[in-house]
Amino acid sequence: MTFRASILTLYPDMFPGPLGHSLAGKALARGDWTCEPVNIRDFATDKHANVDDTPAGGGAGMVLRADVLGRAIDAVSPEGDPRPRLLMSPRGRTLDQEFVRELVERDGAVIVCGRFEGVDQRVIDGRGLQEVSIGDYILSGGEIAALTLLDAVVRLLPGVMGNAVSGTYESFENGLLEHPHYTRPAEWEGREIPQILTSGNHAKINEWRHEQALALTLKRRPDLLDDETSE
Ligand code: SAH
Repeated sequence: MTFRASILTLYPDMFPGPLGHSLAGKALARGDWTCEPVNIRDFATDKHANVDDTPAGGGAGMVLRADVLGRAIDAVSPEGDPRPRLLMSPRGRTLDQEFVRELVERDGAVIVCGRFEGVDQRVIDGRGLQEVSIGDYILSGGEIAALTLLDAVVRLLPGVMGNAVSGTYESFENGLLEHPHYTRPAEWEGREIPQILTSGNHAKINEWRHEQALALTLKRRPDLLDDETSE
């Protein structure tokens, strides 16, 4: 099955951008996913192709117009489209691996990228846009957020990652941060690889890795452990 991503943006040239490379790029070429950037400006009707206007009630900046964005959404995702409609927005649910896993199960996603101060609330309500944030900071537009979300999704599509196992031991997949990694050379600037890793004892290695992951999570992200026990 192909994951169909439609991205509504004022900057369609930003897609697939970095996702045209490496694993995601190969997956795109294979047709594991499709990337359809749509220019919101194509749905403006006045002679200046205006997509934004001043905020009602006053204040700084501009707001993406509901009528223009509404038309763009309807053209890309008519009623009955089974795909979730997402709006990249700092006010949204914070993107996490659990949400990424949910998205991978869908037929794709319609992703709206905001610009300026954001989008008219009526189009969020009227078209059932689900707001998704990539973290507690403000970007200048939703495009990089959309690319981030798509990267996280695409690498989990069946067949995209060469070594499927590597997907299951990543940070967050088991509620923990990942253990440290080492590779050749055996010694670098006087630092050696922990002996256990060269012992060949896989049971002991797994135990060591789990302990490391637990200790790292406790130190850096105790909130992840709280989540686990509260569930
Ligand atoms: N005035 C808004 C921020 C607008 S930033 C506010 O204070 O909430 C312009 C656009 O960038 C947003 O519409 C959104 O699409 C995108 N954006 C900014 N920060 C983001 C974040 N952390 N996650 C996802 N999208 C973000």
